[in-house]
Amino acid sequence: MKAIVEDRRFGFRRLDPVPEEARLRRFYESKYYDILLKGERGQDLCRLMKGGAEGDAERAWLCSTLYADVAALLEEKGRWKRCTRMLLDIGCGTGEFLRFMSGKGWKTVGLELASAARALAQEKGLRVHGLTAEQFLSEDALRRGSFQAVTLFHVLEHLPEPVRLLRAVRRLLAPGGILAVISYHSGEDRIVKHAFREWARSCVCPPGQPFCTCRGEALGELLTRRAISPGPGESERNPRARSARLRAFRKGAEVAG
Ligand SMILES: [Zn+2]
Repeated sequence: MKAIVEDRRFGFRRLDPVPEEARLRRFYESKYYDILLKGERGQDLCRLMKGGAEGDAERAWLCSTLYADVAALLEEKGRWKRCTRMLLDIGCGTGEFLRFMSGKGWKTVGLELASAARALAQEKGLRVHGLTAEQFLSEDALRRGSFQAVTLFHVLEHLPEPVRLLRAVRRLLAPGGILAVISYHSGEDRIVKHAFREWARSCVCPPGQPFCTCRGEALGELLTRRAISPGPGESERNPRARSARLRAFRKGAEVAG
């Protein structure tokens, strides 16, 4: 029997006990996008899935607002050495953001568990795997530290262990690379805020300890002291965007995978 409970630490609501990963995975694999298509959740995603004129309008809108903002952030704040720029979009859906970034010269890879969305992304000629971030990381050792940018848009709310995912994602980042996360719920945004702050601290020892026994160095830098919210035009067009918060973290240039 599942109940919806308030998470004590972060204050958001979740299922208790948390569904096992395999069951969650099956849900996203098969049913999640059917629900979206009915338009009960996320009209924006629904428009993209259906395609046609409405899908085109949604895409054009995203490219001129959200995607453009994220691309500017990645390109202005990234501190990697001159190299091929690799982007990993986790929960890439139908691949709109990947396609946008490919157009800007990035090499892109997507992860998407929902098979219907993944098929649409692959039809666009995009490289998209049906894997979780942790599976993707452990499948090939060379992936560690190899992405100049990793993006997670509206993904964390669907996961049983968001902090564990964030850690895996940090390992995928190249030195000087950027992790950009957009959350829809305040509880989830708080998880991202806490994780990024913790990573940016050079000492995470308990207070009052006479000498440092932890990693003793920051893992990188917080790029968004306060979360970035969408502009009024964006919220008006897509009410779901109103609660969206963007936060970004840059891995230290000397920090290895
Ligand atoms: Zn310490």
